[in-house]
Amino acid sequence: MSSLFPALTEALADPDGTAAHRSALRFGDRSLTYGELAATAAPLAARVGEAGRIAVWATPTLETAVAVVAALLAGVPAVPLNPKSGGSELGHIVADSAPTLVLAPPGDQLPPALTALERVDIDVRASRPTAPSAPYPPVLDRDLAPETPALVVYTSGTTGPPKGAVIPRRAIAATLDALADAWQWTGDDVLVHGLPLFHVHGLILGILGPLRRGGSVRHLGRFETAGVTRELSTGATMLFGVPTMYHRIAETLPGDPALAKALAKARLLVSGSAALPVHDHQRIAEATGRRVIERYGMTETLMNTSVRADGEPRAGTVGVPLPGVGLRLTEEDGTTAVEAYDGETVGEIQVRGPNLFTEYLNRPDATAAAFTEDGWFRTGDMAVRDPDGYVRIVGRKATDLIKSGGYKIGAGEIENALLEHPGVREAAVTGEPDADLGERIVAWIVPADPEAPPSTDELADHVAGRLAPHKRPRVVHYLDTLPRNDMGKIMKRALNHD
Ligand code: ATP
Ligand code: MG
Repeated sequence: MSSLFPALTEALADPDGTAAHRSALRFGDRSLTYGELAATAAPLAARVGEAGRIAVWATPTLETAVAVVAALLAGVPAVPLNPKSGGSELGHIVADSAPTLVLAPPGDQLPPALTALERVDIDVRASRPTAPSAPYPPVLDRDLAPETPALVVYTSGTTGPPKGAVIPRRAIAATLDALADAWQWTGDDVLVHGLPLFHVHGLILGILGPLRRGGSVRHLGRFETAGVTRELSTGATMLFGVPTMYHRIAETLPGDPALAKALAKARLLVSGSAALPVHDHQRIAEATGRRVIERYGMTETLMNTSVRADGEPRAGTVGVPLPGVGLRLTEEDGTTAVEAYDGETVGEIQVRGPNLFTEYLNRPDATAAAFTEDGWFRTGDMAVRDPDGYVRIVGRKATDLIKSGGYKIGAGEIENALLEHPGVREAAVTGEPDADLGERIVAWIVPADPEAPPSTDELADHVAGRLAPHKRPRVVHYLDTLPRNDMGKIMKRALNHD
């Protein structure tokens, strides 16, 4: 298979050429050109070349990006670890993935779960070239088979313990090229990045994406709106974020004209990893004239759909299947296709295509259960399709589809309606058993003013007036915050078990 990173391969071949001088990565005040990245990653690739599988202590730093590029050059599967994971989750991931060594930034203290592993420091400064034309240690990037495992990425653990998805090189190339087509993404794009680096979004889209295009990344370290303003006003062209970031942006915009001006200049604002509330989409559109486009993906499938850069952005939709991705909605039996394009008939999303993972590590049972007999991957996400093919996600089958009074109701539209109430800051909707209705709708609210939260009746009337009476919440719980993971996803499991 040809190189995953043509610009890097070019820089490896010709350390004094133009490609080598292009900017690749910037984290705060530290940055690497393609030539410097090649010079830094190649010796590390040679060092890990014999390892079976390696863990990467994936802090939001230049070191993590270099380590993952080195693993990809060497053809050694890398397992990015979330440094904020608790000991038991790390223990599970390390036992499951059995890495032979761990790459970590020098000086970082590693938790007990990792101390038994051999440690290799990712020393970015020490390995920077002194003589630009010095020969690089041999690396294999060009000769690797497409099915070679590139990464083992653990799912977010929203619905159960995280599973290790084995992601081959073929899937990374396919998804990044499909996104390049949908987003008209080129080497001239400069990405503003504020996401963690141990999931598909931050790592594959946010780091490997720009590198595959020969463009560059400016990582904020930690997301803050001032950084977004600074980077978008100084030449960055795209922003990738999760809904909680766009929520912060929507909240900040009224008092921050510089942010509005910067966002108005961006070529592309993309949201994913969870549903972007319609209310936030609209507030950003009103303040900046720009519409955030949504894409939909999973650890197992990488990216499935997106609103296209040349398409019509529409609040509440994740757009159309990406080039090469087959997508169907199925009825409850999991095989009968839903043919309707009526914006109403709900089905489970199933996908197939070159973007898919190979298997769950050590989980042949889970892998088999995830595919239909005819080879489609069951996403567990429920959706409807608009007449023009735009997909609208209703929610997850397991937690977001409430069967109440003979209706199937998606939590998402009720959450969107609740968020339009001025007294509601955050909202999550779940179902709980009900003797009469089968399930009743329960709302979990973070009020805008904790001293004067809107009453259950007021919220029920608000939803009934906007959607339909049977979609009104019957029970409202008031919380200080919603339980969210590091990507800002609401952990509904934690809500239901409270
Ligand atoms: P686990 O599989 O461990 O329970 P997870 O499904 O949250 O966790 P990920 O693979 O990180 O782990 O997330 C994929 C899920 O995120 C999708 O199945 C979907 O439910 C949700 N998702 C991603 N993008 C969007 C989007 N744009 N709109 C709505 N939901 C989205
Ligand atoms: Mg999942």
